[in-house]
Amino acid sequence: METRLLPTDPAEAMRSSVAEAVTVLKRGDVVALPTETVYGLAGDITSPKAIARIFEAKERPSFDPLIIHIPRKESLYEVAVVDDATENLLRKLMQAFWPGPLTFILPKHPDVSDAITAGLPTVAVRMTSDPVFKRVLHELGRPLAAPSANRFGRISPTSASAALEELDGRIPLVLDGGACSAGLESTILKFELTEGKPLFHILRHGPVTAEDLKPIGKIVKKRKPSLHTKVKEDAAPVLEAPGQTDSHYAPVTPLRLLSDPSEFQPEEGKRYALLSYRGLEDDGYIGLTEFVETFTLSPGSGKVPEAAVRLFFVMRQADQLGVDEIIAEPVPEHSIGSAIMDRLRRAAIPATD
Ligand code: AMP
Ligand code: MG
Repeated sequence: METRLLPTDPAEAMRSSVAEAVTVLKRGDVVALPTETVYGLAGDITSPKAIARIFEAKERPSFDPLIIHIPRKESLYEVAVVDDATENLLRKLMQAFWPGPLTFILPKHPDVSDAITAGLPTVAVRMTSDPVFKRVLHELGRPLAAPSANRFGRISPTSASAALEELDGRIPLVLDGGACSAGLESTILKFELTEGKPLFHILRHGPVTAEDLKPIGKIVKKRKPSLHTKVKEDAAPVLEAPGQTDSHYAPVTPLRLLSDPSEFQPEEGKRYALLSYRGLEDDGYIGLTEFVETFTLSPGSGKVPEAAVRLFFVMRQADQLGVDEIIAEPVPEHSIGSAIMDRLRRAAIPATD
């Protein structure tokens, strides 16, 4: 199958490309579309054929559920069951964060197919701020299921060319909406209502951070998966997101995450690429000749949001060098740094078949 890449700029191109995407979606096929987080592979939630095609193109196992994107806040009630108490909380969250990179886990509406939720009684819902995705949703007039537009376990695409690289020949169409502004997958939030403040379980860290959510609910701390610390036997049970497999977001080249920049000892004859957080001499790297190439995650001011936007983009570039190993420096683990470290830890774990 030939995969077409269509522009969305200028306005005339946007009109015709969106119309083309809607035509493809109406016949039960799939389209890769930009969102503010990463590119998504979208299919009509009412079309079993489209949902099957998403899993097929991504080689995604059927136990890994999809996120539903809705065109407007009221569409939430078409895909989820919301009681009065939850409604109150949702209103606050939607007001603060929608449209934006926050996904809610809610009891599923009976009309939503089990194929989308992988048989779970819950459904994941979000409303994107991306103008191209929004326009497709509005013109189609129905919610779309859209997981990230990468093959299963691989690095999520943050540009149209990366989406094409992942799915070329497998899908009919990619719409080019430029580079993603957040660059990491949405935050996934599950909540529990209590007498006091609601309890928030962050199932996946993302652009909406624990600090952002704290004024509305109490964040339930989750055990941190670490390559370096042993998990205690008596640790509290963890509420995991299905599909958040240990090895994920992984380049083909092995990636090693350091706990400290000074830890790195090159091996004779091996070729390395470096993902450096700030690219500063103080961090102990600049001037080292062992690296085939050094990618700086935050070349501007050393701010974590910039590192988040660039992470998958530079990981993909480093993966194309054909080095023996990608060495990654840790980034400060606060605000969106938690999401970056989560992705780096998972990228560092080799996939097991
Ligand atoms: P992706 O959009 O590719 O990042 O994948 C969607 C992710 O959302 C899945 O891998 C799950 O981790 C999560 N997810 C989707 N539906 C649910 C659900 N009902 N409960 C918990 N997590 C979910
Ligand atoms: Mg994904």
